[in-house]
Amino acid sequence: MLAHGTGQKPHAIFIPYPLQGHVIPSVNLALKLASKGFIVTFVNTQSIHHKISKAQPGSGGDIFADARKSGIDIRYETVCDGLPIDFDRSLNHDQFMASLLHVFSAHVEELIRRIVQQASPPLTCLIADTFFVWPSILAKKFGLVYVSFWTEAALVYALYYHVDLLRLNGHFGCIDKREDTIDYIPGVSSLEPTDLMSYLQDTDTSTVVHQLIFKAFQDDKGADFVICNTIQELEPETISALQLEKPFFAIGPIFSSGFTKSMVATSLWAESDCAQWLDTKPHESVLYVSFGSYAHIGKQEIEEIAHGILLSGVYFVWVVRPDIVSSEDTDPLPEGFREEMGNRGLIVPWCNQNSVLKHPAIGGFLTHCGWNSTLESIWCEVPMLCFPLLTDQFTNRKLAVDDWRVGLNFKSKLGINQKEVADKIKTLMNGNAECRKEIKNVKKALENASGPDGSSEKNFDQFIKDLTLRIQKKELST
Ligand code: UDP
Repeated sequence: MLAHGTGQKPHAIFIPYPLQGHVIPSVNLALKLASKGFIVTFVNTQSIHHKISKAQPGSGGDIFADARKSGIDIRYETVCDGLPIDFDRSLNHDQFMASLLHVFSAHVEELIRRIVQQASPPLTCLIADTFFVWPSILAKKFGLVYVSFWTEAALVYALYYHVDLLRLNGHFGCIDKREDTIDYIPGVSSLEPTDLMSYLQDTDTSTVVHQLIFKAFQDDKGADFVICNTIQELEPETISALQLEKPFFAIGPIFSSGFTKSMVATSLWAESDCAQWLDTKPHESVLYVSFGSYAHIGKQEIEEIAHGILLSGVYFVWVVRPDIVSSEDTDPLPEGFREEMGNRGLIVPWCNQNSVLKHPAIGGFLTHCGWNSTLESIWCEVPMLCFPLLTDQFTNRKLAVDDWRVGLNFKSKLGINQKEVADKIKTLMNGNAECRKEIKNVKKALENASGPDGSSEKNFDQFIKDLTLRIQKKELST
């Protein structure tokens, strides 16, 4: 790919948000860009790099060392996020976010300056997570084209993008918030206030996370392109409406090419093997339980879920992350739970989720509705029991349950109790014909989109063409 005026390949610096659910699709997208002829300099924070290296000791100093053997040009750098490497970002979440809001850009700027001075071929474009507050400023400073990478659903992007409309109509940011249906967001036919992202449901909108989101979407106005990990056929109206605002490309689902195996280490915790245990269980008999990498859950809720799972009588694999309640309470399961479950369950701190979901023994997924987990579950045709906890998970639940009908609701306003947990699990695991039928159709949409003539592949190629033209134009004007 000799794409632009100087006859050199485009060189992108790619900076993912330093959270597990953002690093995984970013690595996979970077590999795809490199396989299409881009030179990519991928940048993890030192803290993320340290966690990956500790979790997968073989990954060494450069997580792309193996991938490069296939001939792609992908380079690796690390940068400080403003805090000491071992600082507990999970326990001190707001301090972490404040550092990303106020300090991180200074470190990134120093790094980009060095790379701009040294890079051969020259750096031409910055790909960075939409949630960062600085990319368009830095891109301008260094004469780079800015591509904003949105790792979540288009619907979530649209709601943040139109936050002023929500404010104007009294659904956000006022004392007596309206509780009726939201029906005025372009490309969104209707949505209940309880389907909004948690940050748009909050009463206190002055937190550090709110400041960060508002500033990020302000900065995003300066993006030359937005690329989104979604599928055109699944969110057609929302995407069309966004395309009237800016160049917006649906290029998902972004998975590693092997799906269950990645050439590049990305897990922040060591992956426990579940295959051996799963191999001993009957077809679709096991419930997979995970609440992702980021959200916390109350101890009381963990106890109800634990007792409910036992009461349901199903087999289960449960990812109990060491900080799921708090990193100061690393074993929050009720006393005696492990003994009682015996061989009916497998508790692991982390696993290769895609391998688990792909295993024929898995019959359902009790999930927090993280966007990656939602796409992965659909890809593996595993129906979901949806238990959103934070951020976009409430909005993803709406898509999965109300729009696509591939999951069942779990959370009620009154909290949860073990009897309800058990009943819901039984409904999910025993039959549940509608979800099983619908998920096959939605999976087909994902599969078609990512096939050679599919919408995501076409959108990806169009994006590269448009980006290349933009880079050429920029070069000619400087
Ligand atoms: N994941 C994993 N092993 C686990 C739990 C999660 O590999 O034990 C992966 C999962 O496959 C997904 C990502 O971590 O790709 C979590 O992203 P998601 O958007 O679902 O949720 P988040 O962690 O951002 O809340």
